[in-house]
Amino acid sequence: MRAIEAILDILYPPLCHACERRIHAHDVLCPDCVAGLHPWPQTREQSLLHLASLHHVCDATMMSVGFEYDEECALEPCIRAMKYRQLYSVGLWLGRLLGERLHDAPILEGTPVLVPVPLHQVKRRERGYNQAAYLARGVAAECGIELREYLLRRTRYTASLSASKMKQEQRRESIRNAFVADDAGLRQVRGRPVIVIDDLITTGATMSECVHALTAAGVTDVRLLSLARPPRH
Ligand SMILES: [Zn+2]
Repeated sequence: MRAIEAILDILYPPLCHACERRIHAHDVLCPDCVAGLHPWPQTREQSLLHLASLHHVCDATMMSVGFEYDEECALEPCIRAMKYRQLYSVGLWLGRLLGERLHDAPILEGTPVLVPVPLHQVKRRERGYNQAAYLARGVAAECGIELREYLLRRTRYTASLSASKMKQEQRRESIRNAFVADDAGLRQVRGRPVIVIDDLITTGATMSECVHALTAAGVTDVRLLSLARPPRH
């Protein structure tokens, strides 16, 4: 097995997704590119600022973001690889990178469970996997928190938000009531905070619909977690 890995390493040397420098196998970014990222603070004050800047009414109690995002940053090629090039292992690695930022963060207080923003099953079949679920697996492994992959279900198929040129209101309308919570699953985690995780939060339209589905099902403490968010939105 080792020999095969060594040969693959020579044939397809692992390269940093951002700067294409040689990296260790199983890594995604080189140490310099990781060091060049801009982490968001993990404080209650920043959480309030994030929540206040969402464009949509949202009953989340806390919001935590790993890193600042723009199209020049080293995360951009990683997110693209994870979403469009079938590289789900990138999602796991990014989840661990995010998890490293969260060890003493308020968002992990109170034995929360983690749930990824779901894809509609048709889109999941098209893409083959849900990138947010791999991100969630990485965070769960790094932080030792419980992952409940199917606590939320997407009932409406919507066009890819990032690819579409829909206006904000149209986007909102296209995902209104798009999610439902799994009542049986929720009964098993009753009383615990639920953290919803996605790769990017901009306006918060998708997240606020997830929060709506969970609070409608009786969850009183829903928190939001995102790998990245633009500094201005
Ligand atoms: Zn690099």
